Amino acid sequence: MKIDIISILPEMFASVLSASIIGRACSSGVLDIQIHDLRNWTDDRHRTTDDYPFGGGPGMVMKPEPVFRALDEIADDGDASTVVIVSPQGTPLDQKLVKELSAKQHLVIVCGRYEGFDERIRSRADLEVSIGDYVLTGGELAAMVVVDSVSRLLPGVLGHEESALDESFSNGLLEYPQYTRPASFAGLDVPEVLLSGDHARIAAWRRAESIRRTAERRPDLLEDAELSESEREFARRIIDETE
Ligand code: SAM
Repeated sequence: MKIDIISILPEMFASVLSASIIGRACSSGVLDIQIHDLRNWTDDRHRTTDDYPFGGGPGMVMKPEPVFRALDEIADDGDASTVVIVSPQGTPLDQKLVKELSAKQHLVIVCGRYEGFDERIRSRADLEVSIGDYVLTGGELAAMVVVDSVSRLLPGVLGHEESALDESFSNGLLEYPQYTRPASFAGLDVPEVLLSGDHARIAAWRRAESIRRTAERRPDLLEDAELSESEREFARRIIDETE
């Protein structure tokens, strides 16, 4: 997958994109990430990317011209590129949207700064994405969240594809509790079933714990989760006990 990111602070990305799993995906060629300095598309001596808001008010607004020029150069006019604007006003990013984005060939992510975008910039976006109901100082961290969550779903990035299939949100549920060695630590024991070697029992325990945990922590997710009638009854019981 190719990802282009447009930002006025390109230096923010180096450590996140070069380390660990994403770094390896870039080195191996599964991911091609390019960071672009928006100031390269300005046309004045001060490389200005912001201006005062018409109508007054606090703060500055991102000028449309540099963003339009950058997109003219970077994004494909046809269907090959998906232009994503990161903004608190966008569609909330969840695992379903992450999965949809991971199927794209080419993402172009535009990071806002100041008080946000001149509204005309939105006309160039295929999608506006929010990473949560809070306001960041700029879109760079949000872009990194999008890149990280999308990249790990690409074939060959995690190395063991089933971990992305089994984890929280992938089946509409939170993940079951996980343990590693030692089997007993600080007076706390790993559940016996996980040491049993009985794969069917382990799978049944994990499924039940996944439903229990979702019912306790995020009952809102259960509505869309695929559950049998008895599993739904089990979830209802947990919710009643939790209330
Ligand atoms: N005044 C804008 C508003 O009320 O919608 C917020 C501007 S914010 C200070 C500057 C930039 O940070 C935004 O243009 C956006 O790119 C980014 N940003 C802030 N919060 C975000 C969030 N929750 N998700 C995605 N991007 C965010």
